[in-house]
Amino acid sequence: HDAATRFIERHPESQRLHKLSLDSLPGGNTRTLLHTAPFPVFIRKGEGSELWDEDGNKYYDLVGELSAGLYGHSHPTLQKVLTETIQNVGLSLGATNIYEQRYASLLCERFGLERVRFTNSGTEANIHCLAAARKFTGRRKIIVFRGAYHGSVLSFGNGIPENNIDQTDWVLLQYNDSEAVREAFMQNDDIAAVILEGIQGAGGFISASLEFLRTIREEGEKAGALMILDEVMTSRPDLITLGKYLGGGLPFGAFGGRGDIMDVFNPLAPGALAHSGTFQNNTLMLHSGYAGLSEVYTAEVVHSLNAQGDDLRLRLQRVFAGSKLCVTGQGSLMCVHATNVGLRAEQITCRDDVAGVEDTDLKQLFWLELVNAGFWVQSRGTITLNIAMSAAALDEFVEAVEEFCRRYRSLIVV
Ligand code: PLP
Repeated sequence: HDAATRFIERHPESQRLHKLSLDSLPGGNTRTLLHTAPFPVFIRKGEGSELWDEDGNKYYDLVGELSAGLYGHSHPTLQKVLTETIQNVGLSLGATNIYEQRYASLLCERFGLERVRFTNSGTEANIHCLAAARKFTGRRKIIVFRGAYHGSVLSFGNGIPENNIDQTDWVLLQYNDSEAVREAFMQNDDIAAVILEGIQGAGGFISASLEFLRTIREEGEKAGALMILDEVMTSRPDLITLGKYLGGGLPFGAFGGRGDIMDVFNPLAPGALAHSGTFQNNTLMLHSGYAGLSEVYTAEVVHSLNAQGDDLRLRLQRVFAGSKLCVTGQGSLMCVHATNVGLRAEQITCRDDVAGVEDTDLKQLFWLELVNAGFWVQSRGTITLNIAMSAAALDEFVEAVEEFCRRYRSLIVV
């Protein structure tokens, strides 16, 4: 109660703007994920790794737009290339352009793809990828995992999504359950593909075991079903989908992989699948994405960002030892979980491990107090680092988490 009162006192302008937004947006919201209680904080601007809200409060940005903000806000290289593109190239050209080829060939090289296509979002990339798998195999069913988030209409946190027009063709299994995968292939001879995240993101940054990935690969190969990895990790998928930071801060999605499968979109072939979209070859994204990946997110930067994330997770694990809190994840992606039974990170292998035992009040309190202390984290516990974040800012963050744990000691002991 006390934390919520301080939150309300610190954000009068956000509260006013939320009321205003209720008139034109359902619940004052256009991205369900961003709705928070008692009301959302309205952020006015970002610079580097920092954010300012409409009440003038400053935050370190630990959300990083869930990796789409990996470059930090207004990275100078991206600012320059975007300005030059507006001045010298123009925006959408309504025509094939050389920038498509340039960025496509960089993505193919970087992610080991034979062919790639652009979309406007990760959601779209997954939808088209699933269409390609169905066309290529001539089958309908798709294996997917509970807790998976493959985009707005492909969200499997609570079963088959109601907003998906395709209600019947899903085979929903437990993540990291190899036996369930084997059984599903025995019971269904019409599986077109298995789609999964190498690390379930929205599900709470839970990693797939190597054995699970191998089972999907082997069982799929035996059955003639494709493996689709939503955002590249390890393993050897037939198709992958890409998104977020690869747009260099702009709306982006892409999917690709084996040339023979991607050929279902070849407009020269009879009966090819159509895949169109006004903005999918827009010049701003093609320039910003290309510059980000070739000039900013170099191999050394990838390595140091992930090392920084691994180090932060270790430090948080030490602070959380023996409490109801723990942190899962890999590299720069992580999620703080609060469970009544004090689950440790290694005990969390799927969303359902957490679902029934989550301490939602503690999670909300953690979010309120960190926002009150000037750290922009997500209400569901997600933390995504960006490359502009300084070591000193992360030290301050760990201190704030320590302070939270000291202050609410009686609430966090198991
Ligand atoms: N797939 C995964 C694993 C995601 O995390 C997301 C976004 O959060 C998506 C797909 C959807 O991408 P977009 O929001 O660009 O549609």
